[in-house]
Amino acid sequence: MQFDALSEIMRSCGVVGAGGAGFPSYAKLNKKADTIILNCAECEPLFRVHRQLLAKYAFEILTALEHVREAVSAERIIIAVKPSYKDAIEAVRDKASSFPHASVHPLPEVYPAGDEVVTIYEATGRVVPPGQLPISVGCIVYNVETMLNTYYAITENRPVTEKYVTVGGAVKNPATFHVPLGMRFSELIKLAGGETEENSAYLSGGAMTGRLASLSEPVIKTTNAVLVLPENHPVIVKRKSKTTLNIKRSMSSCCQCSTCTDLCPRHLLGHPIQPHLFMRAASKGMERDIKAVINTLYCAQCGICEMYACPQGLAPKTLIGECRDALRREGVKPEPPALKPVNSMRPYRKVQMNRLIARLGLTPYVVKAPLSETPLNTKELKIMLRQNIGVPAVCTVSKGEKVTAGQLIAKPAEGLSVGICAPAGGTVTEIAKDYLVIKM
Ligand code: SF4
Ligand code: SF4
Repeated sequence: MQFDALSEIMRSCGVVGAGGAGFPSYAKLNKKADTIILNCAECEPLFRVHRQLLAKYAFEILTALEHVREAVSAERIIIAVKPSYKDAIEAVRDKASSFPHASVHPLPEVYPAGDEVVTIYEATGRVVPPGQLPISVGCIVYNVETMLNTYYAITENRPVTEKYVTVGGAVKNPATFHVPLGMRFSELIKLAGGETEENSAYLSGGAMTGRLASLSEPVIKTTNAVLVLPENHPVIVKRKSKTTLNIKRSMSSCCQCSTCTDLCPRHLLGHPIQPHLFMRAASKGMERDIKAVINTLYCAQCGICEMYACPQGLAPKTLIGECRDALRREGVKPEPPALKPVNSMRPYRKVQMNRLIARLGLTPYVVKAPLSETPLNTKELKIMLRQNIGVPAVCTVSKGEKVTAGQLIAKPAEGLSVGICAPAGGTVTEIAKDYLVIKM
């Protein structure tokens, strides 16, 4: 497939990274790439989407990857997958003869093997310099569901109107559903048999990188999981802690042991982020170490420092995240720092998945969450206009208008943006600044 044709198909069908920040997929295409990586690390403890999709749709996903490879004239496709995802690996190997440019690369069973910078290093030995994109080292990384969406966009001109979501944690029947965009979390939890705890809290995303959510929230193109946990679960308690309290606690308790920095996956790859130095600056006065503050821009928000490393139970990730967001809002863009060599201790400081799961108190919730693709009925969809990083789509329908399934309801805006199509036919009953509602 030609570069421009693939780029246009991805854009018009609204394909974005199905998880994470949701970077528009057309904008990743680049002829400087020599390697296309399929990221099937899925290292958030309770996620079960990618491994099951790769096992079931290996041909479709490999076909999409081959189109991408051809469009950018890359040399190879690397399927980066953990050895424990045996069904997925078997499915890929089964189709291997039709895809001579693709090969399987086993990722270590560690967290965060799915962080793009870590995935690229593990799969190719190349380190993406701080603040730069994978293409700076000749790589393009897509995840499994993004490639499945690309396959349907190429072969059927089918826009992205649905999402695979794992509903896990304290629910009766954890499962992975194929649901329309705009379906509320409350309906998803009902599909999973309902909550098993009287007082629950909800996460959109995983225990390490997700955020607190409400039952009325709708699924968007980047929703990988909805997790239910008891309100007093340590993961939830941590999420609910207040910044002022976090700063006071770091002032009184941070012993500068530097375990957070020792285990930081980005720091281990030679990036300048050093959470212990930021914690010292946060508690003693930021002006004393501006470099530690600026270096928060190179944090991946993986959560290792906060959820696993810190022996005092402090919150470096949260505080760093707030600082990083403030710097970004102010448009702070420092000169790219020099990349240091990969730390020689890195092989011994990787965080094993089983240890992480135990530390997070998630062992009772580790189950298969099987894939269910039964068509679902819903009466109402709340479609967010911002579904991914970049500029939100612009609503193109009006209140009272009848729409059909697949119809464009929000067009791409100027700049980095993709459109949104209706997941089902119905009537537009509400239009607000950042969403619209369709009733069936
Ligand atoms: S969240 Fe913590 S461990 Fe992860 S990259 Fe940021 S500073 Fe490092
Ligand atoms: S691990 Fe905790 S106590 Fe140690 S330096 Fe980091 S924030 Fe401070």
